[in-house]
Amino acid sequence: MTREPTAPVSRRILRVRGTVQGVGFRPFVYRTAIELGLGGHVFNDADGVVIDAEGEGRALDDLLTRIRTAAPPRARVESVEVEVLSPLGLGPFAIVESAPVRPSSARVSPDLATCSACLAELTDPRDRRYRYPFVNCTDCGPRYSIVRDIPYDRSRTTMASFVMCGPCAAEYQDPLSRRFHAQPNACPDCGPRITVEARSGDEAVQEVVAALRRGAIVAVKGLGGFHLACDARNAGAVGTLRERKGRALKPFAVMFPDLAGIEREAVADAASREALSGSRRPIVLLTRQPHSALAPGVAPGLRELGAFLPYTPLHHLLLRSFGGPLVMTSGNRSEEPIAAFNEEARDRLGGIADLLLLHDREIHMRADDSVVRVMLGRERVLRRARGHVPEAIDLGFAAPSVLAVGADLKSVLALTTGSAAILSQHIGDLESYEAQRFFAEVRENLERLFQVEPRVVAHDLHPGYHSTAIARRTGLPALGVQHHHAHIASCLAENGRRGPVIGVAWDGTGYGDDGSVWGGEILVADLAGFERVGRIRPVALPGGDAAVREPWRMAVAHLMAAGLATARVRNAGRPTVEAMIREGVNSVPTSSAGRLFDAVASLVGLSDVATYEGQAAMELEAVSDPDAEPYALPVAAGPLIDVDAGPLVAAVVADVDRGLSARAIGGRFHAALAEAIAEASRLARQRTTLGTVALSGGCFQSRLLTELVVKRLERDGFEVLLHARVPPNDGGIALGQAAVAAWRLRSHE
Ligand code: ZN
Ligand code: ZN
Ligand code: FE
Repeated sequence: MTREPTAPVSRRILRVRGTVQGVGFRPFVYRTAIELGLGGHVFNDADGVVIDAEGEGRALDDLLTRIRTAAPPRARVESVEVEVLSPLGLGPFAIVESAPVRPSSARVSPDLATCSACLAELTDPRDRRYRYPFVNCTDCGPRYSIVRDIPYDRSRTTMASFVMCGPCAAEYQDPLSRRFHAQPNACPDCGPRITVEARSGDEAVQEVVAALRRGAIVAVKGLGGFHLACDARNAGAVGTLRERKGRALKPFAVMFPDLAGIEREAVADAASREALSGSRRPIVLLTRQPHSALAPGVAPGLRELGAFLPYTPLHHLLLRSFGGPLVMTSGNRSEEPIAAFNEEARDRLGGIADLLLLHDREIHMRADDSVVRVMLGRERVLRRARGHVPEAIDLGFAAPSVLAVGADLKSVLALTTGSAAILSQHIGDLESYEAQRFFAEVRENLERLFQVEPRVVAHDLHPGYHSTAIARRTGLPALGVQHHHAHIASCLAENGRRGPVIGVAWDGTGYGDDGSVWGGEILVADLAGFERVGRIRPVALPGGDAAVREPWRMAVAHLMAAGLATARVRNAGRPTVEAMIREGVNSVPTSSAGRLFDAVASLVGLSDVATYEGQAAMELEAVSDPDAEPYALPVAAGPLIDVDAGPLVAAVVADVDRGLSARAIGGRFHAALAEAIAEASRLARQRTTLGTVALSGGCFQSRLLTELVVKRLERDGFEVLLHARVPPNDGGIALGQAAVAAWRLRSHE
């Protein structure tokens, strides 16, 4: 209802910041203002949304309250700045076109899974978008993946080339429509289409479904890139996909038509179900049911399954027509970035896929699927990409802009602007040229979208990292941040803390400030700096990277360090490795916790060769008894708290010889690590009186270890900080580097 504003009239300008573009925010403001009888207008600017409203004071108060409490579900209001001005007699409330660009902190929204209203239209034979694979609205659809520039308007997205038909244009202009200013709005008459060879539309879907039923592998163009799809119940098809993709054992993600299908294969608690069906739609790691209809090759050797639900209309059509689970794995070879362009897919995926399902809406920014796991009742991100990016993490303090280049494996970069840290999507292993090019693309895109010009670059101390070389090439003033300090700073930053805390940074490998390889660190750290107060007693890392790929080498190293016989390691290379360690050739010392996992996994007979990072630890976790009694793992006080793995390794060997199961040994091992972390934390507390422990590093991807450690620490009265929105693995390093650099710049101002 519209009514004339009655005196006394006042005028206020509200500047709303946060994720407020492309999420139906202006229509919401419009409807609210009309309802409250306000005059004025609303528009997007480069920082967010600006509302210039006039009317009764109480109505203006109501508007502000509703913006804070009743904004659309996808909007995230970070702040509202209010300016009071003298009334002008503004006309009836209206939505005006975006103001021209100026330096910006407006947030581009992440890509959003198909909403229920759009899904209803997709499956309604009377609807004009019935079975149309690109149906979307202001509550759902592509965002980050199609935005070329800001402000967020259709002309600056990859939808620019599609001219809306009459009915679509009418929806786009109707403030009361769900599609009002829905930039990717489209229909079968005017929008993008899918094609498979010479077929298009529904025929293309039927063709793909028939091929999948025959056991074919199909490359499917999605939201952030291509997937490789095949029937998850067809062992032959899954085997062929592994062979062609060059991926021996790393688990495949499986997309199911619905939640009920997932629950037949895996156990999903309330938090997992919420993660599965939310608008981010990540891959969720779930514990498998004992009986499975899936081909064994989907996730060999693991008790967990990576499951997810359809998140685009095309997925819904495919999965419903197919009627069963599909392997949907990133469209790439091994660790390369995901393919996104039609031509690129023909080149790179042509040899893997039997058929290509293409469409003509271009993907501007590719992004893999995000991966999460529920631990301690909360969703925790292990790979942060589609659905999360480019959402900002608030540092809580402002500083000049920083570019943080992250680490080399699981590369992610971060940019800061004001107090916001924007993390890029998962980029992959920077070893490949393609990944380095992708890194450059992502950086350029984020700098443009957020209008950021970094003044400083933060990087790892590792002199051989590709990311360190990238940092040097920027020519910016550079700040090196130690790897494990960055892990703990990352955990602090995402929890809105600055420290100091006791930081337990346990991972596979990171360059220590003494030139050795760290990875089992106890730090006292804040954003400004750190002191290493403890670590796992170093053993040799024979052969460097070779030791990462071949866990048996770490078994030899730990046996020798414990003064035990090595004959039980049945590998032809053992004598050579022994000699290397004895003579100190290519065997730097390492305090790595990840390598201790490798050694124990190898000693219990699980993995002798790792085909993907963390495989040995994941396989060991999969078999371990969660309720086992711990092995003794002595922790000694001293200038450097010393965790001596020797007695533990001796006990493992004795249990193997007694014929104890891997389940029992693995369980006792995990429990021992939890005890050791608790003991080291107690010693650190005695010295510092700090009562908070931050846990970070790749080891805390393990649910078993994390839950055991948190239980022990809380029993001892510690407050525990964990990751949730940012990965504990090296995908979180960039945030830590950014926080440390931003904090130093801020302190020096
Ligand atoms: Zn929708
Ligand atoms: Zn249309
Ligand atoms: Fe790390």
